[in-house]
Amino acid sequence: MGRFGVRLMMCDECERILLDWTSAPTNDARASSVSLLTLAESHTQSCPECASRSADLARLHAALDQLRDSTSQMEAPAQVETNLLAAFRQSTTRNASFIGINLGKLL
Ligand SMILES: [Zn+2]
Repeated sequence: MGRFGVRLMMCDECERILLDWTSAPTNDARASSVSLLTLAESHTQSCPECASRSADLARLHAALDQLRDSTSQMEAPAQVETNLLAAFRQSTTRNASFIGINLGKLL
């Protein structure tokens, strides 16, 4: 994959950065990895698989944010988030959409 002469980010690396960033507990933690995130985002722009994975991850976190808003309980959603991220990490790019499809059940 990839074009010559461009700093290519591996898909694994991109995925790890996206996961680390979206699961960072505070804005400060997120800010510290913004430059990495920029690299990851430029990777997703040229890699359809990572783009789709990134979109799944964004959906997952949007759903978790809604859950937090609706429950106003931090602990239960935090556990759900941990479980979801664990499931997401174990999923391959090919079945990443499984998480999105089953998000309602998992929540
Ligand atoms: Zn990729």
